[in-house]
Amino acid sequence: MPTYIVLLGPPGVGKGTQAGILAKRLNLPHISSGDIFRENIKKDTELGKLAQSYMSKGELVPDDLTIAMIRERFSRPDCERGAILDGFPRTPAQADNLENMLSGFGGKVNLVPFITAPSEVLMERLVGRWTCRAKGHIFHERFNPPKAPGVCDIEGSPLFQRDDDKAETVIHRIAVYQEQTMPLVQYYQNRGVLAEINGYAPIEDVTSQMVSALKK
Ligand code: AMP
Repeated sequence: MPTYIVLLGPPGVGKGTQAGILAKRLNLPHISSGDIFRENIKKDTELGKLAQSYMSKGELVPDDLTIAMIRERFSRPDCERGAILDGFPRTPAQADNLENMLSGFGGKVNLVPFITAPSEVLMERLVGRWTCRAKGHIFHERFNPPKAPGVCDIEGSPLFQRDDDKAETVIHRIAVYQEQTMPLVQYYQNRGVLAEINGYAPIEDVTSQMVSALKK
């Protein structure tokens, strides 16, 4: 049976970091909708141009565009064994679509780690965050600094600060999350797959909490 894990939680809680770790451990693809949008922006595709206007304001990209993009990603064979989803779904309509897509593979969402942390912690984490230009690896100037300042430990590529990690945009992203994504907590609780995870802990502790939830 394939294993699909959806990481749920506010911006800055560590979904990207944890998704990367879990994907490696379970040998499953890490699918980050934000990374796919950023790749499209970098390549200046039509999707990238459309998505950028929403992303730079901290708004969600409309469901139809996002769902079409994820459908395309799921059409690749590496998703058949499972996947770690990071940043998708973000609305109930996206979650319904995901359910349909996975049933096509005879799968379903098996676990939804719902990672939380106090909002002042999220702010501090986001505004100090640096992202690798080549592959999107994430560092933090205080909590997870790269060995050489401004350079990704893994790729050796330059690190940059995302436009949407500026303070005003971060505040808006958190509000958008509360309004549009929080209903998914109830959605997945109703399906019996939600696992609450304390994200205000060292990176390895958060991973262990998720691994124990997966074993249950
Ligand atoms: P992230 O890297 O997950 O924080 O996503 C960065 C931005 O990409 C978000 O603030 C949205 O503008 C857009 N985005 C990523 N995933 C989605 C999604 N599932 N639905 C709509 N917009 C998304």
